Amino acid sequence: MSEVRNCRKCGKIFNYIGSPICPICKQAEEEDFKKIKDYLYRNPGSSITQVSIELDIGVEKIRRFLKDGRLEITGDDGNMILECENCGKSIKSGRFCDECERNLASELKATASQMKSEIGGISDASRKVIGMRYLNKDEGK
Ligand SMILES: [Zn+2]
Ligand SMILES: [Zn+2]
Repeated sequence: MSEVRNCRKCGKIFNYIGSPICPICKQAEEEDFKKIKDYLYRNPGSSITQVSIELDIGVEKIRRFLKDGRLEITGDDGNMILECENCGKSIKSGRFCDECERNLASELKATASQMKSEIGGISDASRKVIGMRYLNKDEGK
């Protein structure tokens, strides 16, 4: 059974065989992937940015290879080319290093409690206003 689809990359129609991109684009991806692997073999411990500049391959593309699990970051050669998006430290997975992950989590919590106390302050203030109005009314009697 053959199915025809549009390539997700170039939009050309091709015979669908389990990949969302056409054989030509797949070939190009494969070459990029090989280049990255090759580069990492020669330069273990390179960062995504470094690989991107050296090979002229988009950072997003390299990240996608990583996400797809096609590039091994924690291999025997010790390649670690994922970087924390906050501090740039080498990480093995995800977007942030452990430290930044913790900091971001507590920052979020702090913002949330700050917002809560601000809302509390507003209702405190409006309560006072209501009380004053009440007093004024009494005075006017
Ligand atoms: Zn294509
Ligand atoms: Zn970090």
